[in-house]
Amino acid sequence: MAKLHFYYSAMNAGKTTTLLQSNHNYQERGMNTLLFIPSIDTRHALGVISSRIGLTAEALPFKPSFNFFEYAKEYISQNRLNCVLVDEAQFLTKAQVIELTRIVDELKIPVLAYGLRSDFQAEPFEGSLYLLTWAESISEIKTICHCGRKATMNLRMDENGKMIKEGAQIEIGGNDLYIALCRKHFMSGETSSPEEALNKAVNQAA
Ligand SMILES: [Zn+2]
Repeated sequence: MAKLHFYYSAMNAGKTTTLLQSNHNYQERGMNTLLFIPSIDTRHALGVISSRIGLTAEALPFKPSFNFFEYAKEYISQNRLNCVLVDEAQFLTKAQVIELTRIVDELKIPVLAYGLRSDFQAEPFEGSLYLLTWAESISEIKTICHCGRKATMNLRMDENGKMIKEGAQIEIGGNDLYIALCRKHFMSGETSSPEEALNKAVNQAA
């Protein structure tokens, strides 16, 4: 039975690596997949999903106006399709999330969507909000804060390591601008533990 799966996490938890591994598992069994990535993700060459550990795969860039259901319906009239995978799924619109549910329910093709749950102001992304509501399978890809607790929030920093509290939600630059923290350290803005800060100070003094 096909399902809509949503894998969510904080920054740098390995979502893209997990997506590319799942895609590889399908292809290894001789199955055909379609990969999608938002066209606003300018980190990579257009149409390529690449993970920080070096895996890459071709993907179709999508805009907010793109219709996933119509595309998949047309595609399966010519090709076999066993799975649809969406990276950076937080950038889906509500309408696109519902299109994904129709790929599952009407075309009987599983959809795996991977995305950040919330932005740097701790607000839910539109795509994630509706995936959390409409997907029948929801899994967390876990990562940890510097203190060892589970990281659930994303802090945004400028190049000088200063916390950014305001700005556009859609600005996904390099990974270095974001740091995954537990809620407590997100609220306090502490980006490293006192021990780490002390070590740094000692090393700089030496
Ligand atoms: Zn923490």
